[in-house]
Amino acid sequence: MPRLSGVLSFVLTILLVPAAGLAPAADAQGLHPHAAVASTVSSSAGAVLEERVIGHSVLGRPIRAWHLGDPASPVKAVFIGAMHGDEAQPSRILQNLRDGRTIMGADVWVVPFMNPDGVHRHTRRNAHGVDLNRNFPVHWIRQGGSFYSGPRPASEPETQAMMAFLAEIRPAYVVSFHQPLFGVDTSFSKTRALGRRLSRYLRLPRKRFNCNNGCHGTMTQWFNQTLPGAAITVEYAHHLTFRQKYRTGPRGLLRSVGATR
Ligand SMILES: [Zn+2]
Repeated sequence: MPRLSGVLSFVLTILLVPAAGLAPAADAQGLHPHAAVASTVSSSAGAVLEERVIGHSVLGRPIRAWHLGDPASPVKAVFIGAMHGDEAQPSRILQNLRDGRTIMGADVWVVPFMNPDGVHRHTRRNAHGVDLNRNFPVHWIRQGGSFYSGPRPASEPETQAMMAFLAEIRPAYVVSFHQPLFGVDTSFSKTRALGRRLSRYLRLPRKRFNCNNGCHGTMTQWFNQTLPGAAITVEYAHHLTFRQKYRTGPRGLLRSVGATR
């Protein structure tokens, strides 16, 4: 049946030519979501599933979150850096996770720079002069100076962006990185097990941080009181070693939430 085979071959050509062109991506999407992203983002972004702008700073800088890890994992974790703009060295740990190999065993988001204006100016506070870690709407009080808590609870766009993001993701674990108090916070009973793991794997002592005045309007207070997961503060020293940034930091952080890469 020459005529039918001609029609068939025409139809098959139409079907197969584009299909063949798409085959690697389609296969990769179906079987290896990480590989699919790596092929479209860049070879150095093996861990990245998605990049998202979760909000903007006072001066309009994007606050970026990167989705890493296994989205099917029931264990969700969010790692946050540079809420205080002059404490940005631990952000390198989060950037290294983002730029490294595929992460398995947990669904991970990193926000290396929560306060991009502060990072740009190398200041603790945001461009309104507000200490974002005193601006959250739990136990908020008026505070001044370096701990200026803002005109009202959650007044700042950076605070609002993080609240909306965490309320959407609802992570089991939130780790917020600061400097220079060198320790893992033990203030919240809700975070005891996580704190022990972070202390062991990041090689930092366990300490109780009281925020100079008993803590008011901090992100961990807000999260621990409002959402089901556990949020904890981790403070590195003034200076992070290469090993902390590139080895013990990324590896220990993942291990603390049951992940690996
Ligand atoms: Zn801090």
